[in-house]
Amino acid sequence: MIYLLRRLTTLDHNTPDSKHTMTRDPRYDVLFEPVQIGPVTARNRFYQVPHCNGMGHGMPNTVAAMRGVKAEGGWAVVATEECDIHPSSDVLPYHEARLWDIEDQHRHAIMVDAVHAHGSLAAVELVHNGHVVSNRYSRLPVLAVSDMPVVGYDPVQASAMTRRDIANVRRWHRNAALRARDAGFDIVYVYAGHDLALPMHFISRRYNQRTDEYGGSLENRVRLTRELLEDTRDAVGDVCGVAFRFAVDELLGSDGICSDTEGREIVEMLAELPDLWDVNVSDWANDSVTARFGEEGAQEPYVSFVKKLTTKPVVGVGRFTSADAMVAQIQRGVLDMIGAARPSIADPFLPNKIEQGRLEDIRECIGCNICVSGDFTQSPIRCTQNPTMGEEWRRGWHPETMNRKGHSDRVLVVGAGPAGLEAALALGQRGYEVSLADSVEGGGRAVLESTLPGFSSYRRVADYRMDQLQRLANVRFYPGSEMDADSIRDFGADHVALATGAHWRRDGVGRATWRSVDGVDDHPAILTPDDILAGQRPEHGPVVIYDDDHYYLGGVIAELIAQSGQSVTLVTPGPEVSHWTQNTMEQHRIEQRLIENGVDLVCKQVLAGVSADAVDISCITSARRRVLPCAALVLVTARLPENALYFALAGTDEDQLETLPFSLTRVGDCMAPGTIAAAVYHGHRYARELDALPDPDGVPFKREYSIIQNDLT
Ligand code: ADP
Ligand code: SF4
Repeated sequence: MIYLLRRLTTLDHNTPDSKHTMTRDPRYDVLFEPVQIGPVTARNRFYQVPHCNGMGHGMPNTVAAMRGVKAEGGWAVVATEECDIHPSSDVLPYHEARLWDIEDQHRHAIMVDAVHAHGSLAAVELVHNGHVVSNRYSRLPVLAVSDMPVVGYDPVQASAMTRRDIANVRRWHRNAALRARDAGFDIVYVYAGHDLALPMHFISRRYNQRTDEYGGSLENRVRLTRELLEDTRDAVGDVCGVAFRFAVDELLGSDGICSDTEGREIVEMLAELPDLWDVNVSDWANDSVTARFGEEGAQEPYVSFVKKLTTKPVVGVGRFTSADAMVAQIQRGVLDMIGAARPSIADPFLPNKIEQGRLEDIRECIGCNICVSGDFTQSPIRCTQNPTMGEEWRRGWHPETMNRKGHSDRVLVVGAGPAGLEAALALGQRGYEVSLADSVEGGGRAVLESTLPGFSSYRRVADYRMDQLQRLANVRFYPGSEMDADSIRDFGADHVALATGAHWRRDGVGRATWRSVDGVDDHPAILTPDDILAGQRPEHGPVVIYDDDHYYLGGVIAELIAQSGQSVTLVTPGPEVSHWTQNTMEQHRIEQRLIENGVDLVCKQVLAGVSADAVDISCITSARRRVLPCAALVLVTARLPENALYFALAGTDEDQLETLPFSLTRVGDCMAPGTIAAAVYHGHRYARELDALPDPDGVPFKREYSIIQNDLT
């Protein structure tokens, strides 16, 4: 209770955790020791490694505010995402950082200042992407280690770099390092951490077919990396630490870099050259593996050898959210610094919370990779656990500080799924008197879906919020309370938020199917994800899963049922199973797991009809029909909002809204079904805006504008 009062008094304070007087457990002291990185010193061992954010060079204010909050939260080093050094490495359509010229330098300087303002070091990850770009914006020829097509399906090939090209890349890298220094960066990277970077392409036997001194032997293939490290040290090493990000294992066996062969040899060769080793596994899908496919600390077996070969500090990642696991990494000599991208996104204040002995306040990453989807969809970063991520500048949201409550007092939130829980928590932190009701135990889909194979971490969305709510004296939670229109009217709240969720359709309507599918109405064995999550299973096979949702549920339900021994066919109109999970870097793993579980995969087919023992499917391009045997059909198509309560109160045409003695708002899936991240975000936004709604005709956030140059004539 004392803690609660202290927490509430910090609301609206500029440094939200400055009043926390709890002290850290001495077991974690080691995490707060300074680390020397060449000429600069990190104040502790928490290191926000480079991570993309879908904002990049086009949104410098947005990026600066987001990185500044990380520094404020205690990360001693805060790095940029990959930062292109020259227009011949133009990653359009992706939004990454750039250091092409002095204009870019100015844009970086505001991020550096935001990081320095909190006593942290700013790092920049310089990169030339070789054949991983198509230069869609710059329209320059693509340069690569060898003659080869670019990555992806652009009808473009890269040109094998001449010695002159190599000299150019070295000069561009050096110039970018100088600009980085002048922008104020403390650490400058040479990047070979993924299959995305030119130094890695030179190192790789897959790509490097050169016969000059840059090809052939390992020594030759490492030459460019060595030169870039030496150039960077020579250019800026007197004031900046030189970091080397290197993927010690590509998990490709003999086709790639292996930590027990060439990966190790490269660390031996370059051991003392950088001031800091930032080591990981490649490619990015392996490095940022989702919780469904990889545990916390999964990289340790690959990277643990590095520290034995160098006296320089080593940073590595592993989706670390547990302070004990972090300490163990240091004490067992695996790492010197705890690297994090996702844990720092889910909770920018993770280091400070450990330092203040507030472990229970840590908002743990659930390993869903919704953050990664921002980069893949070329949109600003978002996070399931942290609704303020990416909103620090444009909406002025802070992950630890809520705006003070407005003039009204009592809020009723109906539904304790992700949206309702977040709304209740954020409203409680603002100081409202909040009542949260749920017809069952609460947690909504976060708890239900956490029972699926590989999804246990999803429970953290509910657990974190439930736990935080219990600490707020001004929030009351009423589980087992089904609310109807009368009970809501009688409640006497000033505001009512309906966060009642959504349910899955039973008629087959989805993205590809606009009308109810023939035969679904009287079919004896049709199930939806709601039935599966409630524990129902098909009694007989063969089972057909029809996935017109394209995210994870269709795939994981097919996996679940196949594991119970039923014969399963997954039919989807998509080009591949669970197509949207390309954006979370899981698609290939999901498909692999389904194949391993014996699931038949049938893509680009629409459900055309259902009978008692078969489904009729139709090719989306040729309309050619096929019949598949089917005793039970699981429809994973689309959801309908659970909004009956809303219209019962608001009137069918919302004509009663103004007559109600309270404001009435739909939040989360009950407004528009989406991801858990979207529901959490909506719940948070509802809470932030209560009593201070933005102008409905205006733009509710700040935007970054291009400069008008007036030189058109
Ligand atoms: P979201 O993702 O938008 O939060 P969920 O479906 O996860 O949606 O959660 C909705 C929650 O609302 C569920 O926990 C459900 O039990 C609860 N709920 C739905 N209708 C009512 C109601 N009439 N009264 C109380 N709780 C309700
Ligand atoms: Fe973690 Fe998911 Fe947030 Fe990314 S979006 S930081 S994976 S919780």
